[in-house]
Amino acid sequence: MNSRAVFPSLPGAAEVAVALTFDVDGEAPWLGEGPENSRRLTLLSQGRFGPARGLERVLDLLAELDIRATFYVPGHTADHHPEAVVAILAGGHEVGHHGYLHRSSESLDVSGQRAELEEGLSALSLHGVRPLGYRSPGWELTPETLGMLAELGFSYDSSLMADDRPYWETSGTAPLLELPGHWSLCDWPYFGWTPYHGGLLADPAAVERIWLEEFESARQEHRIVTYTMHPEAIGRGYLLRMLRRVIIGMLDGGRPWFATHAEIAALARPATS
Ligand SMILES: [Zn+2]
Repeated sequence: MNSRAVFPSLPGAAEVAVALTFDVDGEAPWLGEGPENSRRLTLLSQGRFGPARGLERVLDLLAELDIRATFYVPGHTADHHPEAVVAILAGGHEVGHHGYLHRSSESLDVSGQRAELEEGLSALSLHGVRPLGYRSPGWELTPETLGMLAELGFSYDSSLMADDRPYWETSGTAPLLELPGHWSLCDWPYFGWTPYHGGLLADPAAVERIWLEEFESARQEHRIVTYTMHPEAIGRGYLLRMLRRVIIGMLDGGRPWFATHAEIAALARPATS
């Protein structure tokens, strides 16, 4: 049985905490699916757009609005696009763990899962990053992963969805703070079209309404809410304009505290204390 995490009043008497999070997947998900994708230059270039082009737009918008965010970076992205990690850190943002080659936990045995975690840690360590937060590639976790996260010293995760409020995940070997996201609050199901995975290529105005409605719900309930995006999707010009409208709408609609997952996790307390 998981238990809710308790938060004291938010900084600045904020009504709601908003975590903007970005998964800088790059080419890793496609290469991680299998070696046959290493010849698919268009597919790989679609992934490369994230760190090579979309990320800059995202960072510029966050700098303009003075917002700090959390970037979950696969080790492969850190190794092959080191300038992306440098730029994220230069902006004062948090870097979290997102696997090495973005391999899905459920497709790996225990040693394979451990290798993904350890290789991801090694790649980030070259940038002086020791992440405390983890987001599983493809948002799937196994019981073994949870056990390893505690063992490797992670203190929070952003992969599970049992609540829309932070909670303590207790099925691993030690309590882990869960900062839940959801597919509906992620850009990929709406905009992450690929030739064989499909996608919607949705109307951004519709997604803008959904995301702002969720913000208003979170504001009324004084919740913490996580939005998940990918520079290769949200970093397209028309979607960056949507993200700007969403953030401005939040600032106009209440008193949000835009925070990194690390900042939010630092405030979390057990329900009983
Ligand atoms: Zn990812």
